[in-house]
Order: sequence, then structure tokens, then C-alpha cells
Amino acid sequence: MEKGTLFVVSAPSGCGKGSILRPILKEDKSIYYSVSATTRQPREEDVDGVTYRFMTKEGFEELIARNGFFEYACYCGNYYGTPKKPVQDNLDAGNDVILEIETQGAFNIKKEMPEAVLIFILPPSLKELRRRLMKRGSEDEEVINKRMSEAIREIELAKDYDFVIINDGLEEAIADFKAVCRIAKLKKNTKNIINEVLNNA
Ligand code: 5GP
Repeated sequence: MEKGTLFVVSAPSGCGKGSILRPILKEDKSIYYSVSATTRQPREEDVDGVTYRFMTKEGFEELIARNGFFEYACYCGNYYGTPKKPVQDNLDAGNDVILEIETQGAFNIKKEMPEAVLIFILPPSLKELRRRLMKRGSEDEEVINKRMSEAIREIELAKDYDFVIINDGLEEAIADFKAVCRIAKLKKNTKNIINEVLNNA
């Protein structure tokens, strides 16, 4: 059976990844969205088991030792990781998988799996990104400054992604995301598509 495609999506927090992915996942129920584990504190909008699986540092490190992560990274002083089994099971079953992770994890995956499709979502500007982070109101100035410098560092790495999408308007960003997924799948399946036509004489 043809394996599913792995889409790795990165964006600094505040770029609207969730708003882009939510309608896409609602529309196509065959896509598996990986819920990450993290040691960071839950925010007001977080729901354990839905937005993240919240873990203690000790629990997370135990899972690292048991080889339970597809990838993991340390970001802003906290662990974040993708549980391995559901991702592998879904890819093997032919389902597409979306991971929403930061750049270090994305590049680690690309090294191991060059066929993974890396997509970076950009804000229209840094000024707009700061405005969005401040509007969220859940974090103090120091945390926002830390997230802004992380964002700049990450945006500089976006040049090594397969695709970048600017979220300057939700509808257009969603359309761009769908187009990227379609193109990536067509490209990945080129040989199968040709064989299908040739064998369908
Ligand atoms: P936040 O704390 O704002 O929810 O996430 C901070 C960063 O961690 C984001 O860039 C997010 O994409 C990333 N992240 C979330 N889950 C994972 C994961 O499982 N692995 C890695 N490497 N990064 C993750």
C-alpha cells in the first residue's frame, strides 16, 4: 500500500497555524493531526489531550529513554515531542499526517525522511506578529520578547523549507496550504500515476 505523506508545519507562535489547519482537518477526516507532548504550562485555551498532552519533565524524559518519540526538541526552556506510534501507524496505513512543530524538529525529520514536506507559515510582518502575541494577553512582556526573538531566528531558517505561506488573510492562506499539499502529493506520486495509466491499458 502507498504510504501517507508527512507534512511538517512550522510557524512562530502567533502566525495562525491553528486557524489555517482547523478547517483543513475538519474537511478531510483522513488526515491524522499529531497531538504533541509538552512540559510547558497549559495556557487558557489549552485542553489536555487535544491541544497537547501535558507531561512532567520526568515523564517526558522517561518517554525519551523508551524511544517513544518520533522527534522531540527543547524550545523556550520546555520539551516538545511527537509521539512515535500513532504517526508511524497512520503513515503505514496510507493516511497523510500533519505535525505542527518548530524548526529544529522539522530539520531532524527531513534528515531522516527526505520525502517529508516542510511548510513554513510566515506572518505578514514582525510588527503584526508582536501585535497578535500581545492581543492574546496570556503572557507577560518578557515571554513575548523571548518569543519574538525566537520567531526572528526561525523565520531566517524558513528558506530551507520546501514551501512558505504568508498568513495575511485566512482564506488565501488556507487555499495556499491546500494547493501546496496537492502539489506535494502529485510530485511524490509521479511514478505511481504513470504506472497506473500504463497498466490500465
Ligand atoms: P507553543 O508553546 O506556542 O504551543 O509552541 C511552541 C513551539 O513548539 C511551536 O513552534 C510549536 O510548533 C512547537 N512544537 C509543538 N509541538 C512540538 C513537537 O512535538 N515537536 C517539536 N519539535 N516542536 C513542537
